[in-house]
Amino acid sequence: MTSQDIANIESRFDSGAYAMRRIALVRGMGEMLYDADGKEYIDCISSHGSSNLGHCHPRVIEAIRKQSEAMISCPKTFYNDRSAALKEALSSVAPTSLRNIFLSNSGTEAVESAMKLARSVSGGKKNFISAIGAFHGRTQGALSLTWNKKYKEFCEPLVPGVKYVRFGDAAALAQAIDENTAAVFLEPIQGETGVRMPPEGYLREVRELCTSKGVLLALDEIQTGMGRTGLMFECMREKVTPDIMCIAKSLAAGLPIGAMLAREDLRFKPKEHGSTFGDNPLVCAAGAATIHAIVDEGLLERAEKEGARLMQNLKELEGKGKVTQVRGRGMMIGVELADAPGKYVNAAIEKGLLVFPAGETVIRVYPPLVARREVLDRAAGILGEVLA
Ligand SMILES: *Cc1c(COP(=O)(O)O)cnc(C)c1O
Repeated sequence: MTSQDIANIESRFDSGAYAMRRIALVRGMGEMLYDADGKEYIDCISSHGSSNLGHCHPRVIEAIRKQSEAMISCPKTFYNDRSAALKEALSSVAPTSLRNIFLSNSGTEAVESAMKLARSVSGGKKNFISAIGAFHGRTQGALSLTWNKKYKEFCEPLVPGVKYVRFGDAAALAQAIDENTAAVFLEPIQGETGVRMPPEGYLREVRELCTSKGVLLALDEIQTGMGRTGLMFECMREKVTPDIMCIAKSLAAGLPIGAMLAREDLRFKPKEHGSTFGDNPLVCAAGAATIHAIVDEGLLERAEKEGARLMQNLKELEGKGKVTQVRGRGMMIGVELADAPGKYVNAAIEKGLLVFPAGETVIRVYPPLVARREVLDRAAGILGEVLA
């Protein structure tokens, strides 16, 4: 079947939710993807940040293969060896105080878990603070913390009691916190709105503020985490430990998973929360393999070093053509344009480079952390041609 054949079938069942490209991807290896017609692409989308390990990493394949022969599903009220292994691996790379781990199936569910936990443990305080520009997911709870009106206005009323403050402005946050605030939700770097970075020291100030006012700090590391920025979690840059941390995307190398990690004294009461597929052994096996691969293969250092080189190459485009600024950390890179990104993204894809838009004016460049230097150099070259 050709890409067009596949696109024709899929479009017969279109939900309307996505603006689809008429390209069918069928195979991947490392940082390369191939469509049904055999055309090769450099992957700088990483499945929206969920394949930091690249495609078909041998350790992940082996973990999935082995576990698929042992046990694929496990009733949630029984312990399981793969779930145990993932939690040990996760706690070995996360801040040590976050020892309540609740596993679900997506980022938005990790945020839902955090919202519910915050309400459960906050002694009657029910309200949340989020940031202008924030993205925390698309279920109706998480959506209440998401800023973009296009994503949510049509399905209001959502969860009440959410205030939005300017991202990066600790004084505005101090003003907004009141006696009904249960938790503050923040991304360490805003991804969906266009790789927006707060000023240095912001997270540390927010941490001190939340501590002094007795409010929980919930960090959404769904996009920044698992090595994307060159650290396992971006909050570690300022040595900030949140009370609750949400992760997902690359945690199981692209298999569906979400995790909420919370301080060990913050716990649900029985029956307050649950998930049929949470702690799925197949997914957990992939998750543990992912964490071990990131650590053993030095992928954090790679993300930092090769990401800095890629950033440097892209920075040469600043002030040329439509490029106004290139920013980011590690392999989380945003190219800000004085124009809408759509046609440049299309042109890059035409030339065999997959990148994706963010916000109104940004192109995101998110290669897998395993990407080879010469391929990243080629990616920068293609972007240069397209944006010149
Ligand atoms: C992707 C993302 C989510 C939502 O994750 P899903 O798995 O798509 O539900 C939430 N927060 C951030 C910061 C994200 O990047």
